[in-house]
Amino acid sequence: MKNLVEKAKEKHILSADEIVSLLSDNSINNSLFKAADEVRENFVGNDIHLRALIEFTNICRCNCLYCGLRAENKNVERYRLSKDEVLDIAQNAVNSRYKTIVLQGGEDLFFSAEYLGEIIKCIKAFDVAVTLSIGERSYDEYKLLKECGAERFLLRIETTDKDLYSKMHPNMSFENRKQCLYNLKQLGYETGTGCLVGLPGQTLESLADDILFFKELDADMIGIGPFIPHPQTPLKQCDSNNFWLSLKVMAITRLLLPDINIPATTAMETLYENGRTIALQSGANVVMPNVTDSIHKKLYEIYPNKASVDYSQLQNVLRSIGRRISKEKGFRCKR
Ligand code: SF4
Repeated sequence: MKNLVEKAKEKHILSADEIVSLLSDNSINNSLFKAADEVRENFVGNDIHLRALIEFTNICRCNCLYCGLRAENKNVERYRLSKDEVLDIAQNAVNSRYKTIVLQGGEDLFFSAEYLGEIIKCIKAFDVAVTLSIGERSYDEYKLLKECGAERFLLRIETTDKDLYSKMHPNMSFENRKQCLYNLKQLGYETGTGCLVGLPGQTLESLADDILFFKELDADMIGIGPFIPHPQTPLKQCDSNNFWLSLKVMAITRLLLPDINIPATTAMETLYENGRTIALQSGANVVMPNVTDSIHKKLYEIYPNKASVDYSQLQNVLRSIGRRISKEKGFRCKR
């Protein structure tokens, strides 16, 4: 099995069967995490890129079974930030030395591409990179948002198992999801995707397919989230013991896509003590601190008890593991 880790580290290629073998054998975990850390250092260095996350609307037309913000959850107090509120938060983040602003929201069509485009143009005046995480839109909307200055887009496929995707996402189309990702690539966005690990009914084979899909897409960023059940969703009774498997999926992703950006996800920190630090030592090179004001942050609950961190806390943690915060915008340097 160690030969497989070596092969992935040297050649950045594995078959689906080989990925499943690695995922099912926990005796190789330490060598897998170490290899991913070495590949991370060789390809993207020791800098950590911070992305300031602004959650600007928790209104969503979708009903993803795992998500606390799903439209059918009537217990959520819904909000939309105004343009001025978003710009205030963005300005504060820029003052705190962040180089990327991420605008994240539910699928809320109140924010038309034109309106979001105005907000993006104002944020671009701060000389930062802009990432969007707003779900599925048409090709023309993505095009307009790109023309207004957005450089990156996050749209997780969540799972490449089509049947599981349909069960988890009522009234959504797996084909459209994939098409959106290819549209984003075609438009020249740095395109981020990723998956949820530990969904009920998910197999190791489908996780292997997820990783191979990231490679086929030539994704620029990959976010791997352990599934954490939310008490106000149909999946509230499900198991949440998914940290180590998520970490393995993340580490193998680093081995196969060595030069991309990979966040240590907030869900990893939420699920496991020091999960963020462990992830940063197993292939991750990005952290996305939530800079939304505390009132609205509480109302954006995809899963419960979200961990939070600020710039100076992170600086201390990173120093303790020999890493430092990047002063650059942190685009992918393709190699
Ligand atoms: S995961 Fe995203 S798209 Fe799905 S219900 Fe939650 S906020 Fe909406």
